[in-house]
Parts: sequence; C-alpha cells; structure tokens
Amino acid sequence: MQKISDYFGSMVFGDDAMRDRLPKDVYRALKNTIREGKEIDLNIANAVAHAMKEWALEKGATHFTHWFQPLTGVTAEKHDSFINPAKDGKVILSFSGKNLVQGEPDASSFPSGGLRATFEARGYTAWDPTSYAFVKDETLCIPTAFCSYSGEVLDKKTPLLRSMAAIDKEAKRILKLFGHNVNRVQTTVGPEQEYFLVDKKLYNQRIDLKYTGRTLLGARAPKGQELDDHYFGSLKPRVSAFMQDLDKELWKLGIYAKTRHNEVSPAQHELAPVFTTTNVACDHNQLTMEVMKKVADKHGLVCLLHEKPFAGLNGSGKHNNWSISTDTNMNLLEPGDNPKDNAQFLLFLVAVIKAVDEYQTLIRASVASPGNDHRLGANEAPPAIVSMFIGSDLNEILEAIADGREIDGKQKENMLLGVDVLPDFVKDTTDRNRTSPFAFTGNKFELRMLGSTASVSTPNTVLNTAVAKVLEGFADELESADDFAVALNALVKRTYKEHKRIVFNGNNYSEEWVAQAKERGLSNLKTTVEAVGAYTEKKNIDLFEHFKVLSAPELYSRATVLYENYSKTINIEALTLVDMVRRMIIPASNKYLSELAGEVSKVKSVLPSIDLKSQLGLMESIAQLLNCLSDKVDAMEDSLIKAKAMEDEHEKAVFFQDKIFTLMSEIRSFADELELLVDKECWPIPTYGDLLYSV
Ligand code: ADP
Ligand code: MG
Repeated sequence: MQKISDYFGSMVFGDDAMRDRLPKDVYRALKNTIREGKEIDLNIANAVAHAMKEWALEKGATHFTHWFQPLTGVTAEKHDSFINPAKDGKVILSFSGKNLVQGEPDASSFPSGGLRATFEARGYTAWDPTSYAFVKDETLCIPTAFCSYSGEVLDKKTPLLRSMAAIDKEAKRILKLFGHNVNRVQTTVGPEQEYFLVDKKLYNQRIDLKYTGRTLLGARAPKGQELDDHYFGSLKPRVSAFMQDLDKELWKLGIYAKTRHNEVSPAQHELAPVFTTTNVACDHNQLTMEVMKKVADKHGLVCLLHEKPFAGLNGSGKHNNWSISTDTNMNLLEPGDNPKDNAQFLLFLVAVIKAVDEYQTLIRASVASPGNDHRLGANEAPPAIVSMFIGSDLNEILEAIADGREIDGKQKENMLLGVDVLPDFVKDTTDRNRTSPFAFTGNKFELRMLGSTASVSTPNTVLNTAVAKVLEGFADELESADDFAVALNALVKRTYKEHKRIVFNGNNYSEEWVAQAKERGLSNLKTTVEAVGAYTEKKNIDLFEHFKVLSAPELYSRATVLYENYSKTINIEALTLVDMVRRMIIPASNKYLSELAGEVSKVKSVLPSIDLKSQLGLMESIAQLLNCLSDKVDAMEDSLIKAKAMEDEHEKAVFFQDKIFTLMSEIRSFADELELLVDKECWPIPTYGDLLYSV
C-alpha cells in the first residue's frame, strides 16, 4: 500500500521538484523571486520552463495552461498542447520562459463590468511564482493573475496579491519598532469548506439542482436536522469512500486536507485544510471545490456547493480563518508569553478591531452573493451585521486599558510594557462563540460570513488592505513618537475606545442584537443588492486606491458585475421555477385530480348515497392551489418581461430582489402544499426525503 508521504504533492512542481531539477543558480534566483516578490528574469524563466515541462511530461501532461480567477468566481483555463511541428511530420515538445511567464487569452467573454470594450478584448495572464504549478487532467496548470491589455485588473488574484504586499510593508514597519527585523509578513488563511452530497441519479431528475445548484421547491421531509444526529456522526460507507478518495486527490496536489466530518444538516459535510499563505490558500480552495465535484462524480454522487441547497435546513458556508505571520514563524495574532510580545499583540489586535469597524461595509460586501443571501441573518449563519468576538479575557484587558484601571492589582503604567503584567491568555476561553461573524479564536480570527461557493480572495483582499491602512497610521504615529511606550499605551487605549462598538461578545442571532447594533451605529446591509454599494463608497475607494489594490473604475466595474450577476442568477432561478411548475408540477397535479375524479365517479356509480366528503374536499384543495399557482406563474412571466427591459443594473437588481424573488417564494409555497396532497406515485421529481437520505 502506498504511504501518504509517497504521493503527497506528487502532482506539484514544488520546492523538492525545483531543487531536484533546476541548476543551483536558477533555483536560488527563483527562490529569491518567490521570497521577495520580484520580477523574474527571462533567462531564469526559460530554465524554469524547461525543467517544468520535463517534469510535467513525466506526470503525463500533454498541455499547459495559465490558470486564473476571473470575476466569475470560478477558475478559468485554456489549454495549449506542448507540440510544435518538426521536420518530416514529427513533433517537438516545447515550453518557453515566455510561455511560462505570460499568456494572452482573449478576454472578451469574461465579465468586466464595462471596463473594457470588446474591440480591445486582449487580456494577459502573468505567472504568480509564489503559488506552485501543478498537473491536473493531463495539463500543466500555472497559477496566474489576469489583466486587460491596458492594465485594468480583471481577476480576483491581482488585488489579493497587492493587498498582501500592502500589509507586508506596513506590518514590517510596526515590527521594526518592537525590534523585529523580518523579511516578510504574510497573512495566512485556512478555509473550512462545507458541502452537500446527493445521489447522481436523483440529482439528474431535478432541473433546479442542475441549473441553479439549489432546490427551488420541495416540501420539508418529516425528519430534518432537529435531532442533531448528523453532526460529527459516523460516516456512511459511500460518503467515507468519497472522502477517502477526495483527500488522496487533494494530497497529490499538495493541498493539506486535514479535517473531515459530517455537518449539521443531513447529507452535509465539511473539509478543512491546514492553513497556508493566503494566495496559495485561495488557489487551493478553488482547486478543492473543483476536485470535490470531480471525485463525487466518480462515486455516483453530486457535490452541491451552493449556499442553500435545501430550504429549512442549514446551508453551507466557508469559515475563513485568518492570521498574520512573519517569515520567522511569529504569529502576530498570537498572544505572547512576555510583556513586550503581549504589547505587540495588543497593538495588532486593536488594529484589526479598528479596521473591521472602519471598513465593516466593505467586509459585508466582500461576502455578498445571491446564494449567501439565504444564509446571512437566517439564524444558522452570522447576521449581515459585522461585529467581532474577542472573548471575555481580552475584553476585560482592553476595557481595563481603556478605563486606565488595574488588572490583577498591577500598576496601570506597567500595563503594556512592564514586567509580567498581562495575565496569561487562556486560549480556549476565546473560542466558541459560534454566532459571531468575526471571532478571535486564540491565535487567529475566523470570518464566518463567507458562502460555500465564494472565492476567499475578495474577503481577504479587504481584510489585508483595511488592516494595512490602520497599521500605516499606527506606524506613522509611533515612528514619530518621543517616548514609544507612552505613545503605544495611548494608541492602544484610544483605538479601542474609538472602535469598541464593533466588539460584541453576546448572541449574534438574537433580536436584541439587531436593535443594539443599530444604536451603536453599525451597518446592517441585509442583502447583496444593499451591500454592493459599499464598493463605491468614497472612503472605500480611497482605501483601495491608496495602496493601488484597485482603482475607482475597477471598483465601479466590480459593483456592476455583482449587480449583473445577481440579476442573472435570480433570472435563471425564476425561469427554472416557471418551467418546473408549468411542465411538471401542474400537469402532475392535474393528472392526480382527474384520477381522483374518476375514482369518485366510479364509487358514486356503485354507491350513489355514499358521503365522499374527504375525497371531494381534497379535490377542491388541489384545484384551489392549482389556481393560485397558475396565477402566480402568470404574474412571474409578466414580471420577467418587465425586468428584461430594464437597463440600469442597480435598478434591475433591486427589481429582481423585491419582485421576482418574492414571487418565487410565493410560487414555492403553493407548489410545496400541493406536494403534500398529491399521490407520491404521481409526483414528478424526487422529494426532499429522497434527496437527503439517498446516500
Ligand atoms: P473549527 O471547526 O473549530 O473552527 P477547524 O479545525 O475545523 O476548527 O478549522 C480551523 C482552521 O483554522 C484550520 O483550517 C486551521 O488550519 C486554521 N488555522 C489555524 N491556525 C491558523 C492561522 N494562524 N492562520 C490561519 N488559519 C489558521
Ligand atoms: Mg470554524
């Protein structure tokens, strides 16, 4: 039997492969590029490309592709084979440094939000050497960033890399003040991924799952998640086989798949990797989602990544565990065990508090999607109000600092830089507020607002940039201070006092919190359509422009893409629903109605005086529901025509949210009532019970 260590990373052109195959000087130059984020010399690129090609051919690759992340949120690839014609009808296999470093895909069909006219459709992709190349589906994939020819950013990767550079620069300035000279500061991410598994045969009978990723109708099954018996439950054999295979495929790709378990809802599961550098974590998460789908298919299953595949049951999220660390392995969000490190930790902590408070709308917008609208605020996921949980110990310490109070009888002036002043942080007490959207969990923050399909790039771009901005201000202030200790104390105190409204350690699911948050002046952008505007708030544009992460036109275009995406998604859902109701639900119900009528008249002919109250009542209920249903479907069709004529993307998105989305739930309620009355034999699609308990 093969050991994990024999095949882990076997499909990745990682450090081992590079060291084995590259001339020493090339290896060293490449490592420098990776470490310092410098541009790569073409001679080096040629040497790397050659070694990479030889390696990929051994792994069975026939093609190469620049693998990138356009604004669709999924990854994109266009394969080119290595072959080039040679004399006498032969081929040579080639791959140059230029092929490696830059590609020129036609960018015309990717969303750009009006940034780029189709006549200047060329875009280019540029290698991100900090994320290793890998082979998948007989193709050498080179992780890249994607821009238009004139330099506008068209992807999710470029801003992420820029945000990482921003926080690197500003955090190093702070660390220097504490006497730490480090080469690099990076943010790290470990995204926990939730998903559902359903049987492929049943999935194929549901066009809603196929076209939209979620069920648009379906009455509740008698058993849901109320017994809490699925969470961490033992794995069923098919699920276990799937997970085994999945881990193996991910390990081959060098992805540190670590934790797997059943989740709260029936048929729901989770996978968590070991955290890594943010851009790599982002690539790995995209790959993980792709591999999940492929492996499921091999097992006769379908992996549903939608945020809300089933109404009435928990949907799926993605917890984005985030921290900041140095190349010397110092985790900046880890409370230290000496006073100086504690002081440094507290400074970074209040920096995050300030960043989250000041840019709360941006954080909210970064997790907005039509699928996630079903979750946020639905008492299974955090609300749409951004707040932070820091735990009672830290809260107590920061409150004491703010009030100038003593902690544990220690002198207040010793609070930050004296000897043994901060109590040991009991890490375990900081965890486990499962209702908080952004919780400190001992040595990292966990942003819990992401939907399961989300790319982690956008929320992390926002977090990195916002924290970089705050650190920059802190560094300016502290660098020019006469007395560092005094200035530091004052800064921590002031920052916490000014931004503590964002800290909330209570139950985020409660009604009281919604009211209190309003009093505190926190924003509550309930839906995607409400949230997207944050991208174009002046303060947020200034933030992104300041660090050259995104420009104002790029932000406007992103907002447009999100509005468009919202409308298109709901439009597809509405069309699918109308189709299902008109061509499946109504005909099936009519058929059952006429069957009932036939039976009633038969019975009547034998026993004319019999009381058929229940049968007649049933027929009447079905007929009434059918009337309501068909009225609503007519209304939906009219509204969809109206929507089509709308030109302003924002106005259109609002209409889809207010009108179409509401009509969809009305239609659903009638259809679901019908399902409970009509003979199961006649019902044309698999039910919730069938789907949820099929594996
Ligand atoms: P839980 O379900 O309790 O939140 P998990 O063990 O499922 O915990 O997930 C925790 C995640 O946090 C893992 O992906 C882990 O690698 C990640 N993590 C741990 N430390 C850090 C860190 N310093 N930076 C980023 N992520 C981290
Ligand atoms: Mg978690």
